[in-house]
Amino acid sequence: MSPEIKPPEIELLFTGLAAEADKFLVGASTVALVRSAGELILFDTGPYAYRPILQGRLRRAGIDPADVSKVVLSHLHWDNAANADLFGNADILVHERELEAAGRAAARDPAIPEYTVRAIRKLRLRPVAAEIELAPDLRIVELPGHTPGSIGLMVGRQLLAGDAVGSAKEAVAGQIASCAGREQEAATSLKKALATSDIIYPGHDRPFRVGPPIAYISDYELRIRLFVDPSGQDEELHFGAAAAKSFATWPGN
Ligand SMILES: [Zn+2]
Repeated sequence: MSPEIKPPEIELLFTGLAAEADKFLVGASTVALVRSAGELILFDTGPYAYRPILQGRLRRAGIDPADVSKVVLSHLHWDNAANADLFGNADILVHERELEAAGRAAARDPAIPEYTVRAIRKLRLRPVAAEIELAPDLRIVELPGHTPGSIGLMVGRQLLAGDAVGSAKEAVAGQIASCAGREQEAATSLKKALATSDIIYPGHDRPFRVGPPIAYISDYELRIRLFVDPSGQDEELHFGAAAAKSFATWPGN
């Protein structure tokens, strides 16, 4: 590598959230930008609920969506692939097994809206059939299990894992929660991810060092505002180590 070529760098646009609610799917997934030798590569695009925030974050980072040259979709679930159409000039990289499974009429994955494959075929779709080197230190890896065609992006020894590693908790447990009958494949992919990476960016959690011990390398901050009184004060929940309040100290707890 010539000295002026910098190694690829990961910039988190959205940090995934490992959380569950009783009335809806949270679906807060990780979205990352990789800058590689002047090329802008997006890893996953998040759920539709991210859309205006994603556009704002790109704008503030001085990035025109038209300049993103590749979008790597870890898989086609609604919370990962919903904003791919914002990137009309980009090659959309999806594993062909994922496309095949998502396009099946029978035994549909309920987390993939029926229109997904049709919509994605209108873009510059580039199906991936094997592990490929996009650039030095930048490699698409196969991590099937969570879905039949799940892929990750290795950036040096750092892995953007999608839901093949959903959270640090799954990494510790050695198994992933959602793999619909592909438990063996999912466990093998999780093992492979842990064996080949120093740092993992999970699909729904903060990045962590593989260790041992497995340890987070960044914080998570989230505010939720509840409009609890039509004429009075709103209530705000503020999560994160930097937050003044958490459930542990919330008045009344
Ligand atoms: Zn998923």
